[in-house]
Amino acid sequence: MKEELYQFSYKVYESFSELDDDDKMLLKTAQDASSLAYAPYSDVHVGAAAKLANGEIIKGGNQENASFPAGLCAEGVVMAVAAARFPRVPIDTLAISYNSSRTESDHPIAPCGICRQSLEEFRAKTGSPVRLLMGGLSGKIYEVSDASALLPLAFRF
Ligand SMILES: [Zn+2]
Repeated sequence: MKEELYQFSYKVYESFSELDDDDKMLLKTAQDASSLAYAPYSDVHVGAAAKLANGEIIKGGNQENASFPAGLCAEGVVMAVAAARFPRVPIDTLAISYNSSRTESDHPIAPCGICRQSLEEFRAKTGSPVRLLMGGLSGKIYEVSDASALLPLAFRF
């Protein structure tokens, strides 16, 4: 028996102004995409924007449902649209933001566990890591160079 250690590093930007121009544009697109959310139950409007390897930008918001498990996360909507429009084209960077009357949008939002699993498989499918930018409307921004790092020991078979 041996014990394994898992760790990952991520970048922390103190504010939007520290990002380069491409990342500013993509995070702004994600912030704007929160207006595409349908979130009457949680009132948490999440927006996501993906820059694909072919340069296309795909954006979307979470889509809730009275039958709660039928709801879709913003990241899932974006991955599905990307896969439908541009099959097997990698996502270079996925930016996520949110706004809600329930909380200040002043800290980064991270993908839920199900989206982490989906992102991990998107990487496997396209053969290319998905870089993540996680933010809000203000405050710090986190960058992870490979979203799969957020899900060690991912479900695979
Ligand atoms: Zn999710």
